[in-house]
Amino acid sequence: MRTGTSPGGVAAPYRGRFAPSPTGPLHTGSLVAALASWLDARAHQGRWLIRMEDLDTPRCVPGAADAILATLSGFGLESDEPVMYQSARHAAYSTALRQLDAAHRCYRCTCSRGESPGTYTGHCRDLNLQTPDAAWRLRLAADATIHFHDAIQGDCNASAAALGDPIIFRRDHLAAYQLAVVMDDAAQDITHVVRGADLLDSTAWQIAIATALSLPIPRYAHVPLVTEPGGAKLAKSRRSLPLHGRNIPAVLVEVLSLLQQRPLNELTTAPVRDILDWAVENWRPDRLAGIRVIPLPS
Ligand code: GLU
Ligand code: ZN
Repeated sequence: MRTGTSPGGVAAPYRGRFAPSPTGPLHTGSLVAALASWLDARAHQGRWLIRMEDLDTPRCVPGAADAILATLSGFGLESDEPVMYQSARHAAYSTALRQLDAAHRCYRCTCSRGESPGTYTGHCRDLNLQTPDAAWRLRLAADATIHFHDAIQGDCNASAAALGDPIIFRRDHLAAYQLAVVMDDAAQDITHVVRGADLLDSTAWQIAIATALSLPIPRYAHVPLVTEPGGAKLAKSRRSLPLHGRNIPAVLVEVLSLLQQRPLNELTTAPVRDILDWAVENWRPDRLAGIRVIPLPS
């Protein structure tokens, strides 16, 4: 991966991030994304930040944010700068909404999820609704196609018709994830987004939102999603990664294997620092090229 380029053509210093939602403990799947983003940052002599996506307060579990930070720290992964909390950023999201509204780039939508399953077809687009009890959607140019190059998944594109206008503010007056992530990546000067492939489909929306707000677009790399051996979504029983009683080096080596990094056997008994040093030195994201899911070994 190359480093980001600023409008002046000067390479911006690499800034990566991991952005967990504190809805439960860190699991193997999230550790895969955390470690991949950390390794990519360190392999580029970059900085690595943690951002807590605690915006959707109804879904946040008390204590989960601190537990995630403690678990990451146990694996040697610590934020280079103070952790950003989305719950403290409502004012910035509201300002962005006002800016988009003033530019006629968004509209109110009162459709319920049940009324519009699947891709949103733009029911409220031209209704000019004024009800306060409504969500807000970004207006995509009808014939637009968004192209981007993903460092792991390759060239991607999505048409506005297939995407549908994304919700940027929810009916309960909370910013939607799609808007918040764009605002926060820009606020933190993130140049490289390395995250799970479950978010690949959201990327085109995020690029559209960033473009509408004249914000820079980071480079993207979507690492495969960890699944059950048969390919099913990771079971709840496997979703927690408590530190107590787990052998940290062994877990790290297991995650490096999942990331196709072929860790040396002797690393399972090495100090965490040595494992991480080895992994930075030998980081080969190209081994993940085109892989969307990695099933756990049975
Ligand atoms: N908070 C999101 C999640 O845990 C990730 C957001 C991102 O990396 O862009 O799925
Ligand atoms: Zn609608």
